[in-house]
Parts: sequence; structure tokens; C-alpha cells
Amino acid sequence: MAMIQVDEAREIILAKIEPKGVEKVSLNDALGRILAEDIVARRNNPPMDNSAMDGYAVIAADIQSATPDNPVKLEVVEHVAAGAVAQKTLKNNQAIRIMTGAPIPPGADAVLMQEDTDKNGSGILAKDRAEVGENIRLAGEDVKVGDVVIRKGVTITPSHIGMMAVVGRSNIFVSQRPTVAILSTGDEIMELDETPEGPCIYNSNGYMLAAQIRSAGGIPVYLGVAKDDEKDLMEKFDWALKCDIVVSSGGVSVGDYDLVKATLDKMGNEMVFWKVAMKPGKPLAFGKIGERPIFGLPGNPVSSFVSFEQFARPAIKKMMGANDVMPRTVQAKLTRTIHKKTGRLHFMSAVVSWDSGEYTVSPAEEQGSGVLKSTVNANGLLVFPLEKDELKNGELVTVQLLDV
Ligand code: AMP
Ligand code: MG
Repeated sequence: MAMIQVDEAREIILAKIEPKGVEKVSLNDALGRILAEDIVARRNNPPMDNSAMDGYAVIAADIQSATPDNPVKLEVVEHVAAGAVAQKTLKNNQAIRIMTGAPIPPGADAVLMQEDTDKNGSGILAKDRAEVGENIRLAGEDVKVGDVVIRKGVTITPSHIGMMAVVGRSNIFVSQRPTVAILSTGDEIMELDETPEGPCIYNSNGYMLAAQIRSAGGIPVYLGVAKDDEKDLMEKFDWALKCDIVVSSGGVSVGDYDLVKATLDKMGNEMVFWKVAMKPGKPLAFGKIGERPIFGLPGNPVSSFVSFEQFARPAIKKMMGANDVMPRTVQAKLTRTIHKKTGRLHFMSAVVSWDSGEYTVSPAEEQGSGVLKSTVNANGLLVFPLEKDELKNGELVTVQLLDV
């Protein structure tokens, strides 16, 4: 097995991932999907100059001298609500009652807010001056026709949904979600509905991987457990090829029954079997069966979890055309000194908090490829660089944030 660095392995993998197609969804179904088109405004927002206040449309020059003690009388000639249009053109010493969002009447160049006026019979007293343009929201102030308001490749958020509605898009193109087959392997692995007998363990990886796939935007397809038996493995990998990506766990190490490697060696093309210079998660198989990318992740639960995050999640995101395929990172202040041997990059389950204006990071006390509880409260993976053997209390370190 070749020894390889994490970044190098990821680069090789990503270079072999092709984007999947697009599909149309209604705006209500678009949250969390990857946008597959640039959204261009077909309309100005606001569409016309309109009032930012409830008050009176005026000609600013008419009320230049207005003060509370020396108000200016104006005749109110019309009322416009939002959704209505003034029929009259404003003339000197006139005002038009106007509501927030209503179009500015012709002739008016400012809106005096209601609080700066008193009623005066059928007219008003203006008690303050106004600048030209005051309280007027200009057409196109938010968005102009032709503006690219959202770029292709982003993960759609509630604000994106709002903006697409602003420009009148009820249907949009998003990337198709890849189907991802999950195959757990091992004679000792049992299903959750089986009664534990002898040295069996539940298929926790299968469920955890399904959740990771879903949170990455993929559609998990659960294929159950294959025995450490080449025939069973081949049959199940064969089923898995109906999916866009295949993820297996277990059987890629150097044990006597690690038959996933041997099976993939026979079935796969472009297969590589790496020792990745990382901990947890050293053994990794990657390649294709036909056109289908396949990830042979290690079986230890934390190794499977971390390897998925480093390699499979970015691949799923690339297949969906996402601009950002890498996990988000923050620099955080370490809360205790930690040690390791040099030569492998360690990912440590950790809690990142925002504390008095800075991020702090506390790695779980007990780390280990089988210690799944270390991940339970973790919201990040502390990156302990390969060449370092110590990170000091108070040092700024890189932490990958875990997506949910
Ligand atoms: P392997 O890579 O197959 O040698 O497995 C390494 C360790 O991970 C063993 O202790 C397995 O029992 C455990 N393991 C493998 N697959 C799973 C799974 N699907 N769920 C939980 N633990 C697993
Ligand atoms: Mg095994």
C-alpha cells in the first residue's frame, strides 16, 4: 500500500468526480439544495420609487423653513395606499397622504413622516423640513434588472429563497442529489433488529454513514451487511452499482478477512489502496467500478466517520456542483496542551465554542478509532498537523467544523 497525505489523496479523488445533472424544483423545495444556475433579476426591486414611511409626499422646497414653532401649511389633495398609484401631480404647497410602499406621486421629491406633521382641517401643518429624496426608496435600490443576485453553486439558504422570490422565480434549477450506496462489511456485524449473540456488534457505521450522506446532500441507499466472503461482497457491490457513488466500511485493512480490498481489486478499475498519513483512518480504498466512484472506508467507527468527512463528503459535494466542497474551518485557541507522534495528521474530535470574542477548542479527553463517544458532543475536528508533536495551551489551531 502506498503512503499518501490527506490533501494529496483528496485531490486525486476529486479529480475523478464528475458533476451530476440538474433538475427543476419549486422554490419551496429548494432549501439546502445546490443552485445550478445564476439567478438574474428580471425586475427592479423595488420596482418603482416608493415611500419608506407612512406620511406625506411633499415638495421639499415648500417646507424648507418648517419648524415645530413655525409650521408650514399644506393642502392634502389625495391619498395613496401601497398598491395604488396617485392620480394627481403634486403642485407647490400641496401634499399627498402616502403609506409605506406606495409609489411616489409625480411632482413630489420627499416624504415627510407623519410624526412631523399635525392635522389642520383637511390639510396638514408640516413641522419639519425635508431633504430632497428623504424617505424615498429608489427603484432598483435593492436589485437592478440584469444583476446576478445569487451565484450558481451555493447551498440555498432562507435568504436565497427570499431573494429568488423578490425576482419572481417560482421554479429554479438545482443539482440532482447523487444516490450513495452504503455497504457495511464484516462477519461480526449485525442488524439492529437482530438479537446479539456471541461477539457481534451492531452496524453503527451503516447508520452513521447514511446520516453523513444525507447531511452532505446525497440520497443514502442502505444495502445492509456483506459477510467477509468474496462472493457475497461481489454480489452486493454489484447491486451498489445502481447508485452514483458507493461507500463501504470495513475490510480494507491488512487482516486475514479484509476481503474488500481483494474484491475491489478484481471488480474495480483505477483502484488505489492507500495508507493515508492520518489518524484515525489510515487504510483507504478508492477507485471506480465502471463509472461509479467507490470509497472503501475503514471499519473502525471513528475512522469511518472521519474518512467520510475528509474524502466522501467533498466528493458528494463536487458531484452536486457545489462551489465549496471543503469543510469550513476556524482558527481557535487551544484550551490545553496536547501531544502526538509526528508523521501522521491527527483529526481530534473537539468542541469549539465562542468565548469572549474568540473561538476556543477543547479536544475530547479520550480519542481513538473505536471511541465513538468522543464524537458525540464534538462540533469540530481539530487538525493536528502531521509534522507537529505538540500543540500548546493557548495556541491558535485549525478546526474543521462538522456539518449537520
Ligand atoms: P475492519 O476494518 O473490517 O477490520 O474493522 C475494524 C473494526 O471496525 C472492527 O473492530 C470491526 O468490528 C469494526 N467495524 C467494522 N464495520 C463496522 C460497522 N459497520 N459498524 C460498527 N463497527 C464496525
Ligand atoms: Mg472487517
